[in-house]
Amino acid sequence: MEDGDENEDTFSSRLGVAVDDVHRDWKILSEAEQAASERANYKGAGIYQRQLRTLRGRSLLGRLGTYGLMPKYGFPTDVVELKVRSSSWEAGQVELARDMKLALTEFAPENQVIAAGRVWTSAGIVLPLGERKLHEYLFWHCQACNFFSAERSVATEEETPSARQCHCGEKHEADRYIYPEFGFTTKLGEGARVGDSRPPAKSYAESFFQDESQVREPTPVDSCNWVHEFPATKGWIHVINNNRDRDFYVCTSCGFSALLHPSFLGEKGGHKVPWSTDRTCRGSLVRRALGYCYRTDVVELRFPKPSGLVSNDPDLQLSFWQSLLHAVVNASCLELEIDGRDIDGCLYYREGKTPSIVLFDTSPGGAGFVFEVRDNLGEIMRRTLAVVSCSSCAEDSSCVACLRTYSNQRVHNKLRRGVVLDYLRAQ
Ligand SMILES: [Zn+2]
Ligand SMILES: [Zn+2]
Ligand SMILES: [Zn+2]
Repeated sequence: MEDGDENEDTFSSRLGVAVDDVHRDWKILSEAEQAASERANYKGAGIYQRQLRTLRGRSLLGRLGTYGLMPKYGFPTDVVELKVRSSSWEAGQVELARDMKLALTEFAPENQVIAAGRVWTSAGIVLPLGERKLHEYLFWHCQACNFFSAERSVATEEETPSARQCHCGEKHEADRYIYPEFGFTTKLGEGARVGDSRPPAKSYAESFFQDESQVREPTPVDSCNWVHEFPATKGWIHVINNNRDRDFYVCTSCGFSALLHPSFLGEKGGHKVPWSTDRTCRGSLVRRALGYCYRTDVVELRFPKPSGLVSNDPDLQLSFWQSLLHAVVNASCLELEIDGRDIDGCLYYREGKTPSIVLFDTSPGGAGFVFEVRDNLGEIMRRTLAVVSCSSCAEDSSCVACLRTYSNQRVHNKLRRGVVLDYLRAQ
């Protein structure tokens, strides 16, 4: 793919999406109101009328920000809403929008968000109107060697063959993720009243690097020659929430999405349409992950193996590499005074059992932060040693003063600073 035209992301295309989105909400609510009136469900009709009034009254500036038409931090981002389907006064006060990367965790089905003193629970994804379909991607994440690759699924008459042989020899089927570009929805109803503590997430998104380049040879990093780098590049980052490897159940007719099939919970004969009180949908549920991908600046670093320090137990190996990864990310932010939301990292298993550490800018298109990291890696590794010398937690653990951040909560219990401390002292 050529640089520049990816996703055809222009002001006018974003404006088009914004217009479509408001029209869709208006149409759905008007039809629901009419249907409720016809069934003499006047309470229901009143609820939809109040939602229509809320939609009309929303501030234009707020909406422009939601659709990335107002620059945030100087560059456009992909922002989606959790649409609050409620007629309560509080619902009129909240406008829940998140960057897509965060939304894939915070707005994921059955996860909860607190706003205006109430807890709002995601009940599904918003589907486009008419013939349009949400984009789907196929991805292969090898259970044997952890290699990751992905490609856009193109709808054809025949089902695309999705089994692939990994370079390690293992053959496996593709998983699929849906890109929920129109956002998420709560079910209709009042949010419950709560305190201010954030409810724990039931599922989390994870980032994966997809390499498209030819075979390349790593070379020593100028500022820190015991670490090697692959030539700098742009790369695709896929952010995927697969409901802890179980996928979500997603209705392709109404967008209803859940962690478990409703029949497991004893609900027979369909599921409730997310934005209605009285409509049952009998659409079929497919098992899908939810995800999104963007192209950005990437630096891939190859660190020496922790020989002698970590046994070959796969869990301990993974724990070591994740701890080193997050120590380097946190130290980079401290050393270069970068906001923790602007860079992130993941492990990439190019070949064999030793992963590379991939650092990437979290803004689509990239802002060059990770090239600063590479150019200052010597200082950053000294800072990493300081980070893992934390005095607030035990060596076989980690805390918010050293390795743990909001964005790596998925792996908090795997992060142990002591083994990284021993490793860095040995270099
Ligand atoms: Zn493999
Ligand atoms: Zn449905
Ligand atoms: Zn600590």
